[in-house]
Amino acid sequence: MTGPAAELPALGIDIGGTKVAGGVVAPDGTILATARRATPGSSVSSTEDAIAAVVDELAEAHGGELVGVGIGAAGWFDRTGDTVLFSPHLAWRNSSLRKDLTARLQRPLWVGNDANAAAWAEYRYGAARGAYLALMITLGTGIGGGIVLDGRLRPGAHGVAGEWGHMRVVPDGRLCPCGNRGCWEQYASGTALGQTAREVARTSPAAAALLLERVGPDPDGLTGEDVARAAAQGDPLALELVTEVGVWLGQGIADLAAVLDPEVVVIGGGVSKLGEMMLGPARERLDRALPGRGYRPGPRVVAAELGPQAGIVGAADLVRQAVSEGTA
Ligand SMILES: [Zn+2]
Repeated sequence: MTGPAAELPALGIDIGGTKVAGGVVAPDGTILATARRATPGSSVSSTEDAIAAVVDELAEAHGGELVGVGIGAAGWFDRTGDTVLFSPHLAWRNSSLRKDLTARLQRPLWVGNDANAAAWAEYRYGAARGAYLALMITLGTGIGGGIVLDGRLRPGAHGVAGEWGHMRVVPDGRLCPCGNRGCWEQYASGTALGQTAREVARTSPAAAALLLERVGPDPDGLTGEDVARAAAQGDPLALELVTEVGVWLGQGIADLAAVLDPEVVVIGGGVSKLGEMMLGPARERLDRALPGRGYRPGPRVVAAELGPQAGIVGAADLVRQAVSEGTA
């Protein structure tokens, strides 16, 4: 490698349930080129084929020198990124992903959790820039997260920190795919928004008449997206449901603040498009629920700045850092 790693572009790859998306990312966080493939999650080798295809396409499009490849995916990775412990959308179980991909791609690698990569991107280039302790909360189908403390991503002793979507907020509450009941993500996520709307529509169809006009008479067709769109158009019930998600979000942030005392909490993921309709109620609830309120500063709660490509940008910068430090 001719130039120092810090001055070269890197590849960032974001593996979701349906697609492998990648980008060539400059050291200032600018995305220079992108590529994507469908994720064939059925087998490890076909997923690795899709990753290799995206890497090859991007390397060819870029043409110049690259530091390495950063890969973020939904799931649990051990602290070193050598092993995927579990990935909900993919076939990896206790797989030696990094070793296999290093052999195949012949490039330095960083491998880790997608929300951790997004947290790092927001710290380096976005809403958490320069913060001493920043938490990222990604709201989508579930809740993911990441911790950046004192200039480092902190993945935890076993690599699985930041899974606050599974804090229990309601004893014996809604069943969560993780096997427990009452997890936070069952009350403050896109899935939660849809589920609460369906519950209301089943028990009081009259109250939900405007919402049901969108999807027909069957409440089971209602999704979080429908509620979000209705709320943006001023539908009173939809606004109430979004407020409720915001209140749950604020309560969870208060609980996180009790443990970690963050300076800033960045809200990202698809559901963050609800913006101030959700963040306003979240901040209000946080103000009332923050432990020691009135005697201590609380965290700022802000919207993510980097959008859906945060995972790509963060993973690219994490491999750049790993190469600089000799750990890739
Ligand atoms: Zn759970």
